[in-house]
Amino acid sequence: MQSRARRNDLAPSRHRRENAAVPLTPSLPISRREFLQRSSSALIAGSLAHAADASTLPLVDIHQHTNYGGGRDKVTYAPVLPPPRQDGDLVGHQRALGATQTILLPSGRPVARTSTHQGRANGLDSTCTGNDDCLAVARRHPGEFFFGANEVSDLEDAPAVIEKYLKLGAVIIGEQKFGVECDAPAMRRLYALAADFGVPILLHWQTGSYNHGFDRFHRMLAQYPRTSFIGHAQTWWAHVDAAYVDDQRNLYPRGKVKPGGLTDRYLQDYPNLFADLSAGSGLNAFARDPEHGRAFLERHQDKLLYGSDCTDVNAAPVQCSGARQLAQIKALSPSPAIERKIRYETARKLFRLAG
Ligand SMILES: [Zn+2]
Ligand SMILES: [Zn+2]
Repeated sequence: MQSRARRNDLAPSRHRRENAAVPLTPSLPISRREFLQRSSSALIAGSLAHAADASTLPLVDIHQHTNYGGGRDKVTYAPVLPPPRQDGDLVGHQRALGATQTILLPSGRPVARTSTHQGRANGLDSTCTGNDDCLAVARRHPGEFFFGANEVSDLEDAPAVIEKYLKLGAVIIGEQKFGVECDAPAMRRLYALAADFGVPILLHWQTGSYNHGFDRFHRMLAQYPRTSFIGHAQTWWAHVDAAYVDDQRNLYPRGKVKPGGLTDRYLQDYPNLFADLSAGSGLNAFARDPEHGRAFLERHQDKLLYGSDCTDVNAAPVQCSGARQLAQIKALSPSPAIERKIRYETARKLFRLAG
């Protein structure tokens, strides 16, 4: 019963954005029983907050954004209230979370075309800003904030734009969150560029919306062995389950996991593939079946990366999926050594960050 209440927190409905903050108060009247369930959930969240805050271990957060989480008009995608999180609040959030090093992932430039769903994907389907903003925050906080390089995948000059920021010190390409086939010529250019610069590329997998063809992705993993790929988001995590049938109406599947899903097999078979644990999709994949989750952490212990990808300001677990994810990693890691790998050791190696 507790788990039911928690699942409601962890698995957003398909109508809610993957990274929207969880509301503090329920919008509908609730029964006494449900109230008690939610209260015990809050107690658990409280103790988890303590656990997360109390850690003195380093933490590399590989997935955050500038100007994140603002409102947008549903038709024109123009900014509306509430305002997005400002840079000062982003820095405060990362420190409250305990992140010692944070990687900021830029959006591409705003354009209306098929690959951006005529503008829906601009701002990474939110209000996130681009290369220059991420670079500026990183420059103000050297050693603490790092930046990625990004552009709309199928714009003619995407490789040139991305290369410019890689030369300025970007540590990753992404977040690639556009409506393109994963094996399209446009994407292949970026995979080759990532290998040339020795940086990973991060893909947001969401059937029907972003990066199409997950069942064919193994061909890219095989054809670009020098490229490090990082998988992220709903379709990526839904496919830990061998019983999952790809479905854009079922992006947060529930219940026990049948081991050996596509994601599991890809991670097993390709040394150049890593997983980003961030957001509601990452939380759900472990919360739905903690026993499987623990075995998954054991199996792929050298390929898992912590990310927050949340929009809140205070890093309080009731709203902050990043804080809940930290607690989940602590709770499910088979050993302290594995927890350290996930929190910072693997990221430091992959991104070549100083310790
Ligand atoms: Zn993101
Ligand atoms: Zn947060």
